[in-house]
Parts: sequence; structure tokens; C-alpha cells
Amino acid sequence: MAKKVLIIGWDCAPPDWVFDKWIDNLPTLKSLLKKGLYGNLRSTIPPITVPAWQCMLTSKDPGQLGVYGFRNRKDYSYDGQYFSNGADILEPAVWDILGKNNKKSILVGVPQTYPPREINGHMVTCFLTPSIKSQYTYPNELRDEIEKNIGEYIPDVKHFRTEDRDFILKQIYEATKTRFQTFRHLLKNKEWDFAMIVEMGTDRIHHSFWKFLDPSHPKYEKGNKYENVIPEYYKYLDNELAETLKLVDLNETSVMVVSDHGAKAMVGGICINEWLIKEGLLTLKEYPKTFTPIEKLQIDWAKTKVWGSGGYYARIFLNVQGREPNGQIPANEYKKFRAELKEKIENIKDEQGRKLATIAYIPEETYKDVKRIPPDLIVIFDELRWRSVGSVGINSAYTYENDTGPDDANHAQEGMYLLYNPKHILSGKRNDKQHLMDIAPTVLDLLDVNIPSDMQGKSLVEKNLVTQ
Ligand SMILES: [Zn+2]
Repeated sequence: MAKKVLIIGWDCAPPDWVFDKWIDNLPTLKSLLKKGLYGNLRSTIPPITVPAWQCMLTSKDPGQLGVYGFRNRKDYSYDGQYFSNGADILEPAVWDILGKNNKKSILVGVPQTYPPREINGHMVTCFLTPSIKSQYTYPNELRDEIEKNIGEYIPDVKHFRTEDRDFILKQIYEATKTRFQTFRHLLKNKEWDFAMIVEMGTDRIHHSFWKFLDPSHPKYEKGNKYENVIPEYYKYLDNELAETLKLVDLNETSVMVVSDHGAKAMVGGICINEWLIKEGLLTLKEYPKTFTPIEKLQIDWAKTKVWGSGGYYARIFLNVQGREPNGQIPANEYKKFRAELKEKIENIKDEQGRKLATIAYIPEETYKDVKRIPPDLIVIFDELRWRSVGSVGINSAYTYENDTGPDDANHAQEGMYLLYNPKHILSGKRNDKQHLMDIAPTVLDLLDVNIPSDMQGKSLVEKNLVTQ
């Protein structure tokens, strides 16, 4: 029988909770783990869904993909930003390479696969699908088959940043249920060598419920009514995993459970633009009366050298002569200016004056290549305990509320992986040293397909951690 590879993706699943705290309540995962290899999977800089999954599946870094997060600059104008989707991915993903080797794939919900592309196999697009009125499958007729056999497919929870927690929870379960039903329908009815599903509900539930779970969160209250919501959802996912494994022959199928990054409590936010104003690097035409996103404010560009943007990490932009429309930093001083700014940002302290473990990354030094337009600096505050907040209007560089709606979790640099390989029963060895870019070459190796030499990761087979 031909070999197969099955990947179950749990977006944002944190290894320190899944493996260390919840594993006894996840019997299916535990049984795979006992025979497999597992551990932390280091994510990309930045550790964000877009582009992390595509880095995993192309084995290229964000610079090589030219995708630095959800929002990217399309040009050097001040407001030229766009949301990245699958159309930006020009590097071949693992299913493209498999297709060339006559191997068939099934993909359901893999981030940044919207809009759908032709593959050798079947695809249901990801959470970036605007609605199921758009083409969300390949081939297009697959939509009718899903609607007839499963019902309405739900690409993502619609409004996950709301205070109505019960409403979010109901939506998460509905979306997860239909996603796994769809995946199993394809596993049963289509030919495949490689099959992969990514569930976003894990990410959504962390962002909505983390403060109810994690005692290290500043807003955690012991015994609150939502305390077990996240572990119970993982139990539900473990059952979906069990139902899915019933459809595969575990004597011939390698199974991976992976995430693109982890999760941790959010301590607070650094208001990066407030800080830049105080440093004299950013000038507004008028300071707002309420907390207002920077994109909605009038910046006095003739008096501005730097501006920034919010999110799990800060994107820092320099206003450079000859590059931006009203540039203020002479082009020949760019590198020196940026190096000094990097140092200043890395020295931002918390409100009590304690040092934070912040790193401001220089794109050209971080990535193998730098395609499209990267931010000038990519800042990760205090190992992601703090996030970057872009809004202005509170006269302080610190906030303890998120500016884009309730959000209790930050991402963590380490995601998780588990590999069960029928040829090589490993009795549950933990190895935390693997990188997300190792996944694509591992899949190819397990399916006896040559690994392109420009893939950055190393196959776990090649590293002698498993046998092909
Ligand atoms: Zn993610």
C-alpha cells in the first residue's frame, strides 16, 4: 500500500498547555504521542497565522514569501496597505510539489489558501474566505457536493472580538463541527496521498477565553464560569481527531498534529505611536480626544520621522527622503538612524521601569531574502508578553486594554508538533528543537519525494529523528 501523510493543524495550540497540562484528558493525542515524536515547534518572526502556515508548507521564511503579517505595505505611500491572502504566495507549497509527482492532496482550511488555486486534488479554502458566496473550493463543483452532503460550510467565526462569550463559543463549535465533517467527507470519497486540515477555532477560543484559564493573566479569576472552556474544547478536538483517524490505516499513514505558534497571557500593550510622539519622532496635526487608530489621524509628515502600527508585534516605518512622499530622514542616514532607533526601542521599559526582553528585528538580517515591502523594523515586545498598540489618545505609552476589541491572549513563539510514523514507533520522545519550516521537507521525505534544495527546513527523517 502506498504511504500517506495526514496533518491536523490546531492554530495557536500551545505546547506547554497541550503536552504538559491537558494531555491526560486528550486520549487520542496521548496514544499518538506515546508512539511518536513531539515537542515545541519554533515559529517564524513574527509568529502570526499569516504567514506562518505558508512558511511551514513552503519551507520559506516571511521575507522570501514577501508576507510580513496580515497587513502589508503595497507601496511607499503613507496609507498603501493591503491584507495579504493566498494570491501573494508565489513559492511552491508541499501540495504543489506533490502534484508534480502525481500525488494527490486534500486541503481544508489551510491559512492563506484563499483564493483557491488549481491543485492535484481537492481544496476547501481558509478563514480568509470572505463568504461562501465566493468560490471557496477547488474544483468549484466541490461546493455543491459539500452543501449537499454537509450543509453550510463556515470558514471562520464571524465576530470573535465581542464581549458576548457564549455567542462566540456556539459559533466556534458549529464551525469546527462542519469543518471536520467536510474533511472526513473528502477523506472517504476522494483519492489522496497528503491530507491536511487546519482548525482556527483554537486561535479564536484562546483570544476570547484565555484570561478565564491562565492564572498568570492579570485578569484571571479563580473559579470563574469559563475556566474550563478551553480545555473542554480541546477534548472535543481530540474526539474529532479520533473520528478522523478511524478513516485512515495507521499502518500506512504518518500523522502529524501541529500548530503555527503558541499562546500566552497578554500583560499589556505598548502604545508605540504614543512613545514615538514623546520621543519627538512623530507629530500629529491634532492630538485626539479619544483613543483613535493611527490610520484615522492626521500626521504632520514634515515633522515626522517614524510611525508604527499595532498588533502582536509592532511594524515600524521610517519616513525616508526620496522613498516616502514627504520623507524626512536623509537616505544616506537611513541605516544609522534605524540602528539607533532599534536600540531605543529595545530599551523601552515597563510602566514600573523594569526591563523588557524586547527585540527589534531588521528584516534584511532576519530573512534569507526580503521580497515586496517589509516594515523597517519588526518589534516583538518582551517575548510577546506585551503587544503593540497603534492607537493614540491616552497620553501614555502603556495600556492594559486592546484597542481592537477584547483579546486576552498573545501569541507565543513556540507552537507544537507531534509526528506518528508507522515505520518508526518511538515511544514518546520529546524533542523541542524543531522549526516550523521543517514540516514541508518532512512530508516530502515521508512520501518519497525529493526535497527541493531551496527549502530552508530540514526533514525530521534527514535529521535521523524518524525513519522514512
Ligand atoms: Zn495562528
